Amino acid sequence: MSHQHEVKFMRKRNHFPNPIAALTLATFLLALATLASGQSGAPASSCADCPVWNKPQQPFRIYGNTYYVGPRGLTSILLTSKAGHVLIDGALPESVPQIVANIRSLGFRIEDVKLIVNSHVHFDHGGGIAELQRLSGAKVAASPWSVEVLTKSGVGKGDPQFGSITPVALVPRADTLRDGRTLSVGDIRLTAHFTPGHTPGGTSWTWKSCENGRCLSLVYSDSMTPVSADGFRFSDSREYPTAVQDFEKSFAFLKAAPCDILLTSHPDASGFWQRLEGRQKGVRPDPVVSPNACKELAGRAAEQLRRRLESEKGR
Ligand SMILES: [Zn+2]
Repeated sequence: MSHQHEVKFMRKRNHFPNPIAALTLATFLLALATLASGQSGAPASSCADCPVWNKPQQPFRIYGNTYYVGPRGLTSILLTSKAGHVLIDGALPESVPQIVANIRSLGFRIEDVKLIVNSHVHFDHGGGIAELQRLSGAKVAASPWSVEVLTKSGVGKGDPQFGSITPVALVPRADTLRDGRTLSVGDIRLTAHFTPGHTPGGTSWTWKSCENGRCLSLVYSDSMTPVSADGFRFSDSREYPTAVQDFEKSFAFLKAAPCDILLTSHPDASGFWQRLEGRQKGVRPDPVVSPNACKELAGRAAEQLRRRLESEKGR
């Protein structure tokens, strides 16, 4: 029941000569409505931003064999090949039905996903992985930190957001990657680049996709933001002492990576929807192809970290 509805209801005094009776009934109905909404339910991962992040998004081809299959606010990427597919990131637990339907509506099958990898294992990028793994039977591969989180803890101690976020559902097993490792499924070659900072296990990914004989370098960048639970300090954390040098390693990766198309775990972090809109309006050259985007993201992220470290001085 909406608040507005309740107010209107209470104004119909004629039906309830006794205002206390009216109030009691309204309270009862409100309690019922609250109960019902709890049951129909937002899963445990729900957060203030989750409904916005999880808004439906029509899936589409980004370039060549690279497709967007996530909800509007959380990227999930499908790379396809004749011998099976790769999925990067699983968004929220409640995003899974959308991701599966999006894959199908593009003419592919979740059952043909052979490998699931991730940017980082917070609930908004890794929350859907366990269920997507169960539906596909795919292998899961991740950085050593992320394997621990995905298979044992659900949230990592030493993570800047430890204590303030919900754990991810666990997967039965995951392969441990080393930095720079290239994974293959069919003719897909996907390389892992450890880009820690936002989490100690953060991973970015690079690959090539081709269209009409033109092959481009794609980068899927992990979050580069210094977000934390209350009380955490990036400048001198005992739980995560290498946080600042980790971020710097990640920025250096972004500056150096061959990068024709930048994708980010939150599409807004790379202005992706504006770039796509430009493409759809027929802007040429295609604004989705943006070779400076990785360097620009590195610059913005370095500035965010600088401001964060500045704000930690004297605290
Ligand atoms: Zn995160």
